[in-house]
Amino acid sequence: MDDDDTECVFCDLPSCDDDRRNNIVVRSEHTYVLLNNMPYNPGHVMILPYEHTGRFYTLAENILVDYMKTTQTVINVIEESLAPDGFNIGFNVGAAGGASVTDHLHMHIIPRWESDTSFTPLIANTAIVEEAVDETYERLCQELIDLSVTHVRDENGAVEIIHE
Ligand SMILES: [Zn+2]
Repeated sequence: MDDDDTECVFCDLPSCDDDRRNNIVVRSEHTYVLLNNMPYNPGHVMILPYEHTGRFYTLAENILVDYMKTTQTVINVIEESLAPDGFNIGFNVGAAGGASVTDHLHMHIIPRWESDTSFTPLIANTAIVEEAVDETYERLCQELIDLSVTHVRDENGAVEIIHE
């Protein structure tokens, strides 16, 4: 990590070479997938471009395609591994839109179950949450490996996928 280059956490995380610890589950050419460490539900991930921008409009076409293909893959992987009843998928854009980081796009994918009442606030017992996140990380990685034809499990933990 190079503190001089950026103060953006979403630029720093993928440059740390420690995907497992940083909860980066998947990497593709232009995007990466971050398992939320304070999940609303198990399997709550964020999909981000490597490019530092807060504007969806400015993403180049090749990045957009990669972004959406990664999104498809991740939805499929969550469906296969966690069997949710539904999803919330979307961007919080700008502070008024609820984004905590406003200058680096991140799409939330939140699996939903009919039994979940509402967005559950962070569970008080952090140890339980961390264990659950670790378990989910491995489940998603394994499902990715099972489902993806073209992938590599890199030495830092994440599964690298190549979209056809
Ligand atoms: Zn950034």
